[in-house]
Amino acid sequence: MRSGAPGALLEVLPRLGPTTAEGVQRALAEDGLPLALSSIYTALGALERRGLVRALRAPGCSTLFVRAEAAGVYLLCRRCGGVVPLTLPTAYVDALRARSAAHGWQLFEPHAVLTGRCGRCRAAASP
Ligand SMILES: [Zn+2]
Repeated sequence: MRSGAPGALLEVLPRLGPTTAEGVQRALAEDGLPLALSSIYTALGALERRGLVRALRAPGCSTLFVRAEAAGVYLLCRRCGGVVPLTLPTAYVDALRARSAAHGWQLFEPHAVLTGRCGRCRAAASP
């Protein structure tokens, strides 16, 4: 059941995966709910502050949004904006926790954006 723009966003985000505010706007418009981009950003910001949405931010790239349950580690292509979720081996996450603990930190679930260039863009750039 939708509850205004935030409710509509929470419904559409799992279907889209990591997406930009513009991507959310297009999907909502296709669902018959045209909203101004400013309203989308306002709703995404409110959902992020409530911990229901995570923003994936990287320098030089558009911010991507995912539902909090889908937050994790993502590869983000700096050329085309392509996104791939990256599953980390348990041993790697355990090592991150141990190294964080050595600095007195409690590590929450790993949530990061790793930037680079995807295979398709690398192939296109090759002579
Ligand atoms: Zn790419």
